[in-house]
Amino acid sequence: MIGVTSQLRRYFIFVAMISIVFVTIISNVSIRFLFSDYIKDTRIKDDLKIVQYVEQLYYDNDGLGPQSLMNIMHYALSEGVSVRLIDMQDAIVWQSSTDNMSMMGNREEYTANLVYKQYPFNNKGKQIGHIEVGRSESIFSSLEDQQFLSTINSVFAVAFIFSIIIALLSSMHIAKKFLLPIFLLKENAKFIENGKYKNLNQIKTKTSELHDLSVSVQELAEKLEYQDTFRKRLTSDIAHELRTPLATLQSHVEAFMDGVWEPNIDKLSIIHGEITRLTKLIKDLSDLSIIESDEIKLNTSRVELSELLNNIIESFEPLYLNRNINLKKEIEDDIVITGDTDRLNQIFINLLSNAYKYTNEKGITFITLKKLKNTIQITVEDTGIGIPEDDIKHIFERFYRSDISRNRDSGGAGIGLTITKALVEAHGGNIWVKSKEGEGTKVIIEF
Ligand code: ADP
Repeated sequence: MIGVTSQLRRYFIFVAMISIVFVTIISNVSIRFLFSDYIKDTRIKDDLKIVQYVEQLYYDNDGLGPQSLMNIMHYALSEGVSVRLIDMQDAIVWQSSTDNMSMMGNREEYTANLVYKQYPFNNKGKQIGHIEVGRSESIFSSLEDQQFLSTINSVFAVAFIFSIIIALLSSMHIAKKFLLPIFLLKENAKFIENGKYKNLNQIKTKTSELHDLSVSVQELAEKLEYQDTFRKRLTSDIAHELRTPLATLQSHVEAFMDGVWEPNIDKLSIIHGEITRLTKLIKDLSDLSIIESDEIKLNTSRVELSELLNNIIESFEPLYLNRNINLKKEIEDDIVITGDTDRLNQIFINLLSNAYKYTNEKGITFITLKKLKNTIQITVEDTGIGIPEDDIKHIFERFYRSDISRNRDSGGAGIGLTITKALVEAHGGNIWVKSKEGEGTKVIIEF
């Protein structure tokens, strides 16, 4: 495994090296080839200047004396060329000394590489011979040219060193910029792994991907914390749900055994009630396990929904009457759907039980069933304790009970609505809740 810093450093240095080498090669090649035409033109112009100079000297002095030849030689030297004077019989009459050019390197080598260009030598409009100007075959023949090229290459060499330094510094800067948030994120992941969900490192970054990642990690921590609290709540809830009926059963049975109480119908019906509560809890838990494992199987048939709802409402009437709760309804007749009768029963029993559990004496529960344009809508509305706004989004989660319902003895284990929602959705329907704390709750189902 290699750290990000060294990977970035290697990458940056590699890119810097490649770029500089590439630019150096390209520049050298361009100078040698692309500019060669331009240089050739310039050379011809320079040659013609030499020819003009020699002709002028010849004209001014009526021939070329030793002084004139010396001047030509100096001129030739300063231009880095060799000059030959050729007569009409093609014989070399004079040649500027090549000895002095040895300063440019090995003389033989230099002269051997000279390429001569011939120009007519005119005086007073008449050709009297030829002037040949010899230059190195290489385009970069002159000292200045060679120096120019080597200066360029040394500039590239300096640039090479600078780019490596810049690459090193920028790789360190970038690594620091990205590594710090990544390091903090890694630390956060470790905290979460160890069950610490709060006070995670704050990640400040302008990089959108890292910002998104840190938000996701934060959300993950919140979800896990939520699940954790739930798990703990579940254990305590189930323990609580089991403890109360079992304690009642135990005390009653012990009282019978000790002969303190005679088993009469009142006492036995209390025992029966507690056993029913336990059985319901176990049924809810088993339903929940079916829902959690996505194994709901519906036994579908044609269901007279209006009739089914009327029957359920009727069966709840004595219970509601007992607590003086007004159970009102507005059920459209002959509404039929395809569904599982038992599961549909379960849905409405859950809703009517909740409305009953969470409505105070003299309250109202109002049930409606009507056909809308494309759907069938059922509402169960009560004037009960309502649900705090923050809890509404959670009430369909398993084992969720709002704190105010928790304080009531009537509260269940918080499984009913989870099962109800799963059953409604298994029927292709939707369920949602509108509620105001202290005013009441309305559950709406649409199939
Ligand atoms: P429980 O068995 O606790 O009633 P549910 O899943 O049926 O479980 O409901 C979850 C929670 O939603 C309840 O604990 C309660 O806080 C809230 N709730 C459900 N129905 C109502 C209602 N009609 N009025 C007020 N609160 C309700």
